[in-house]
Amino acid sequence: MHPSSEAGKVNKGRSLEAMEAFHTLLSFLAIRLSPANEQLLCETAKEPPPDGGEWILQALWNEGRLRESSELCTEEGNRVEIIHPGTWNSEAGPDFLEAVIKLDGHTKRGAVEIHRHVNDWFAHGHDKDQRYRDVILHVVWNGNTEKSVPGQLPPCLELEGCLPSCWNELFNQLATVGYPYSRRVSPGGCALRAAEVDDALIGDFLTGAGLTRFRRKSRSLLDRALAAGFEQTAYEYFCEVMGYKVNREPFLNLARHLPLRSLQEINAPLSRLAVLLGSAGFLFDPTVEDQAATPAQRNLNRELWHRWWSSGMPPICLQWQKSGTRPANLPERRLIIIWKLLEQWNYRPLELWRRGLPENLSPAAAIKHLRNIFSISSDPEFSRLLKLTGAKGASLGTQRILDIAVNLLLPLMQAWANQQNSLSLQRWSEEVYLNLPRLQENQVTRKITHRLLVPASRQQEIVKKAVQQQGLQAVDRQFCQRFISDCGICPLSNQQMFAKSLAGN
Ligand code: SF4
Repeated sequence: MHPSSEAGKVNKGRSLEAMEAFHTLLSFLAIRLSPANEQLLCETAKEPPPDGGEWILQALWNEGRLRESSELCTEEGNRVEIIHPGTWNSEAGPDFLEAVIKLDGHTKRGAVEIHRHVNDWFAHGHDKDQRYRDVILHVVWNGNTEKSVPGQLPPCLELEGCLPSCWNELFNQLATVGYPYSRRVSPGGCALRAAEVDDALIGDFLTGAGLTRFRRKSRSLLDRALAAGFEQTAYEYFCEVMGYKVNREPFLNLARHLPLRSLQEINAPLSRLAVLLGSAGFLFDPTVEDQAATPAQRNLNRELWHRWWSSGMPPICLQWQKSGTRPANLPERRLIIIWKLLEQWNYRPLELWRRGLPENLSPAAAIKHLRNIFSISSDPEFSRLLKLTGAKGASLGTQRILDIAVNLLLPLMQAWANQQNSLSLQRWSEEVYLNLPRLQENQVTRKITHRLLVPASRQQEIVKKAVQQQGLQAVDRQFCQRFISDCGICPLSNQQMFAKSLAGN
């Protein structure tokens, strides 16, 4: 097939997609603004949503289909004003993140959880789940509860009586469009501005934003390194990154309470592992029979327990998140991998990273060398230790390694270069950073892509490197979060300010 006809097909596909996305946006605005719908908002729905229809309540919350603010009250009698419904969370945890509401005039920002019935809070185990501790509003169809536990439930807003009488039609309408992601996260005010600018300019803007983010990260790592030392900083943030999404905080706290120096002072490798696992609370008391453990696991645990006990190191109070985690991602398994890498790096991670990535490497060669730094040498003892967690094999995937390079290794190398006044190393670390391939999408990059780019598939031409993804995250931090997603006051929705931001890079 001739290349130009192929390109024509792609363009046609893209413009169809663009029309579809704008159609979605227009119908979304029409639902919100039509006077007929405003009228319907004053009437009351009587029927509960159909079984399994929790997503419909979520869609209604997302669409802002609730009665005007002055009439909304929590079950506790506090007036509720919805400033922003937040971002629909497609991952584990509460349904909406970063919502903004006013409770009796006091602004609150946090997560919102939505259920058919108030008791679902307990039925789904949210009362015992740390991820739900910041929920600012529990939105339910029915707020009657037999289980009254004051102080343990977030403020509850009952929807029955707040919805339009036409909700069945609305639900049908929502079901017809299948409620795609593009409707969950609608285009922001910046999307109209970005639509007027060509791909290359937006790409440059995101590259500049990503580079600024890199330099800021590097400065903040330098601040920490000046206080705690470079090796300790490398260890702390390496542990944090190994916490992935849900266990970053406990891993960082573990590294701060159990510093590298304490581990260096312990002689035997197995004793260092015992101290890491024991301090983190991952060893079980061998005098108490653990039915779930195999005899081999019990023997290994007993051996490590005695080593940890004789070290005299106290356990550290850490809030680990394990529910819904696959065995391969359990924090104890990650801790064994951290220990193994620290052993390979002789407890001097930054020194090893610098030796593994000499300045004379081209960016492409440096990216290849990253894998060597994080490859884990397998031996029978290590395999035996992994059995403690029931997991087989251990290696860091390419995505995780790139993530560590973007968020820690390269910015920390630049911080070190700053401190050493090495201009060439500073330039080299930025050069490698600018060449890193794009990472997997995460919730933030996906959200901002849909806010900024219409159609979202435009990103294929714009976001080709990790630095541009970092630029998307910078837009979220500096604009969406700062202006609490209120596009009306955000500079990026203003034509002149948008142009100025593009020119600024
Ligand atoms: S707050 Fe700003 S950056 Fe975020 S979607 Fe709205 S206009 Fe775009």
